[in-house]
Amino acid sequence: MTTPQAVDLRSDTVTQPTAAMRAAMMAAPLGDDVFGTDPSVNALQEKIAGLLGFEAALFVPTGTQSNLCAILSHCQRGDEYIVGQQAHCYRWEGGGAAVFGSVQPQPLEHQADGTFKLADIEGAIKPDDAHFARTRVLALENTLGGKLLPFEFVQAATQLARAKGLQRHLDGARLFNAAVAQSAQTGSAVRDEARRIAQCFDSVSVCFSKGLGAPVGSALCGSREFIARAHRIRKMAGGGMRQAGLLAAAASHALDHHVDRLAQDHALARRLADGLEGVAGLAVEPPQSNIVFIDLSDEAKPRMNDLLAHLKSQGILATGLYRLRFVTHLDVDAAGVERAIAAIRQFFRA
Ligand SMILES: *Cc1c(COP(=O)(O)O)cnc(C)c1O
Repeated sequence: MTTPQAVDLRSDTVTQPTAAMRAAMMAAPLGDDVFGTDPSVNALQEKIAGLLGFEAALFVPTGTQSNLCAILSHCQRGDEYIVGQQAHCYRWEGGGAAVFGSVQPQPLEHQADGTFKLADIEGAIKPDDAHFARTRVLALENTLGGKLLPFEFVQAATQLARAKGLQRHLDGARLFNAAVAQSAQTGSAVRDEARRIAQCFDSVSVCFSKGLGAPVGSALCGSREFIARAHRIRKMAGGGMRQAGLLAAAASHALDHHVDRLAQDHALARRLADGLEGVAGLAVEPPQSNIVFIDLSDEAKPRMNDLLAHLKSQGILATGLYRLRFVTHLDVDAAGVERAIAAIRQFFRA
């Protein structure tokens, strides 16, 4: 008997490239992207810009670098960006915009659904006065912690920002998860929903190495002028890559083959949540996309590390800092989710 493979629910970043993706990488024509002559990078940049309705795009190694290039391209030293307390480009990027760009964040509290009160956005915009940093950007994230921002909010918040003269940036690391979730509500095509969300913004960052299943890479989209500035910042950040077409080909393959299948990840996340309903000590947040958050009751909380160790001993990997988190992706199947449910239930029965 062979040991079953680990069910790795720590993140959608852990996926291995499929055989077809590897073949696409090996077949990719390559050049030197610092000279601007890698055909596979150029093709990817045109593809994602066209898909989301922008003039241009820039292939970057990580989502963190993409957000950094975006904020520094929109801002000068002494400017600020309005951003959520839980947003990746505030909380999880080492304060890069402040460190490298002298751009300060102006964080806002989220509402329970991940949105902001419009009055909070408006109230955070500083008057033109020497005392204050210049408020330049509103940055949203969609999905945020697995939540789809209601489209009415995205429209209202970005219209307000525009009326106030702010640039609008979307950290759409999981934009296609948002588009799949939104498409399930509206019945419109997933790509149309992705474009509809993206078109509310001046710049959009998307990750290929999350649910889309590519090994490396993100893209930043915007106007030609904006992308020219971002290109300079990418160089300064050390993100000019040479035969990067190997990676761009994987991303391109992911756009062609891994967008619609995200719906399967969302269905498995719902199955995981449903399978844990009624377990004493657990409060399961109904998932809207591919991330399931579970709160442990006050009595169960001290057992978090024991639970993670128990799951690991059963070949199930998850993360739990404050909350338990399970993320479904390309390399998780229905059998894996059933194993996870059984192992968690077993722990709480014991
Ligand atoms: C993963 C992620 C990023 C970028 O992460 P990298 O690890 O730098 O690629 C940015 N924003 C969000 C919302 C993310 O989930």
